[in-house]
Amino acid sequence: MRFDVPEWDAAVDALKRADQVAIACHVNPDGDALGSLFAAHLGLTRMGKKTSPTWGEDPVAVPFSYAFLPGAEALVQPSEVAPAEVFLALDCGAADRLGSLEPVARASEVIINVDHHPGNDCFGTHNIVVTTVSSTAELVARLLQDLDVEIDKDIATCLYTGLVTDTGRFQYTNSTPDTLRMAADLLALGVDATAIAQEVFESSPFGYLKLVGRVLERAVLFEDVSFVYSWLLLKDLEETGVGMDETDKLIDAVRSTRAATVAALFKEQPDGSYRVSMRSKGPRSVGAIARQRGGGGHELAAGFTVSDVESTVAEIRAELARGS
Ligand code: 5GP
Ligand code: MN
Repeated sequence: MRFDVPEWDAAVDALKRADQVAIACHVNPDGDALGSLFAAHLGLTRMGKKTSPTWGEDPVAVPFSYAFLPGAEALVQPSEVAPAEVFLALDCGAADRLGSLEPVARASEVIINVDHHPGNDCFGTHNIVVTTVSSTAELVARLLQDLDVEIDKDIATCLYTGLVTDTGRFQYTNSTPDTLRMAADLLALGVDATAIAQEVFESSPFGYLKLVGRVLERAVLFEDVSFVYSWLLLKDLEETGVGMDETDKLIDAVRSTRAATVAALFKEQPDGSYRVSMRSKGPRSVGAIARQRGGGGHELAAGFTVSDVESTVAEIRAELARGS
């Protein structure tokens, strides 16, 4: 057993026994989701298992800044994934984060739910949910070790990408001595941290600079409650030539002011709704704000979907003022 998770050994046994393992991360995947996905794919493939790495959106494509990940070429479309002996769900705080693959997971013999989000709804047959680790990649690394998979440079590259992205380059509170020790071990296996940093953090298209300009120009500050927000419209993406999958880090620009401890970015979606990314510098929990609205995440980084910007901003402002 690891991390005091009673189901750890059962999960390892189920993975050892299975010939086919369907692997999925959450929809709209970030670096931890993708790094975990391809590390698990590479590791299980080395064990001779048949895997199908993907996530539940149609169609899926690896975002440009993560296309360098070893194993990315093995991505399959979710429509090609059938119920499997084991369905390995990675970085999904709730079953609905599997998107269109949720029914495939439910129809599989065993679901292994590997995640680090507080409030995970434990939808798996075996739940490997550890909220004290930095990233799902940390859990995948330990699982692969217990499966006797040799972690080579390719797997290490995927795992390191999960660590460096979910810790905000090792700067957030989830970056512990254990996280840094694991990062050091991965570097010792030959991981090129500089190349990864360039791929992940410095590979935006030129139009992204214009998009950042628009979003920052619009930012609104409520000094009384230390809250800043901005928004992004589909037409901004069209006019700057930036894809939605390139907008994950925009919230980092919004949160960079010392004038606010809580930041939100509203992103218009094709169906007219808005995906909201929220961040807190502490102690206010944005996880609670997201959960109340059917979303989720961590206490200091969370997301949800709403139909209207103005009314949601008014509600959040009132909640922050009440201190609830
Ligand atoms: P982001 O703002 O980067 O999209 O998400 C921040 C964190 O919240 C990530 O850990 C992400 O997995 C989680 N998150 C974002 N949106 C949702 C959601 O709709 N539901 C749940 N359960 N978690 C979410
Ligand atoms: Mn994660």
